[in-house]
Amino acid sequence: MWNNLGQLIIITAPSGAGKTTLIRKLLKDNNYKLSVSYTTRSPRKGEINGIDYNFINDKEFLQKKDSNFFAEWALVHNHYYGTSKEDSYNLIKTGKTVIFDVDYQGALNLQRTMPDALSIFILPPSLEILKKRLVNRKTDSQEVIDLRIKNAQKEIYYSKHFDYLLINDKIEAAFISLKDIIRVNKLNISKNSKELDPFIDKFLRGSWK
Ligand code: 5GP
Repeated sequence: MWNNLGQLIIITAPSGAGKTTLIRKLLKDNNYKLSVSYTTRSPRKGEINGIDYNFINDKEFLQKKDSNFFAEWALVHNHYYGTSKEDSYNLIKTGKTVIFDVDYQGALNLQRTMPDALSIFILPPSLEILKKRLVNRKTDSQEVIDLRIKNAQKEIYYSKHFDYLLINDKIEAAFISLKDIIRVNKLNISKNSKELDPFIDKFLRGSWK
């Protein structure tokens, strides 16, 4: 088939939209791989270095940034986050579907360098529910929660630059919709032109008799 290659998927959401849960569910399928970012934020309880993030300090991050190590990087909620060029290239080469979990700045940059990538913005049903989820998950201080809510409104403004908007009300339903979006994207002509063109060419070169 022409579209058996892995896809590139950019996923963005304000904190508390349920993005991490949805991505973890996708990653249970071995055909999906996460592009593990670099960050200067401290690990949360349960997060593993090299699996959830590569945790580095500010000095290391800035050195990497200056040596052109990142495909994109951004300052998000007062910490640096970045996607390694080499790590993501190596992942893409495996032919698996690669997930880039990045903020809206990273997403807009990756959309420019990877125009075939599918971009999905995840939203909670309302700002009130977003606030409630951030408080209930008990991973951040009130100060951090306030900052994340303030930033959410700015992030949501950029949702219109994405291919799909997914509302995460109930996680199971949102997961089904996410898989549907990914499945349909495999059939999208403009997003798959590199693989599709040679496939169509074979038809065009074939004889009718
Ligand atoms: P968290 O601290 O909650 O894990 O992530 C905060 C935000 O940083 C999220 O929106 C997440 O998608 C974003 N983020 C994670 N890794 C990267 C990255 O490599 N680049 C950019 N631009 N944002 C990232």
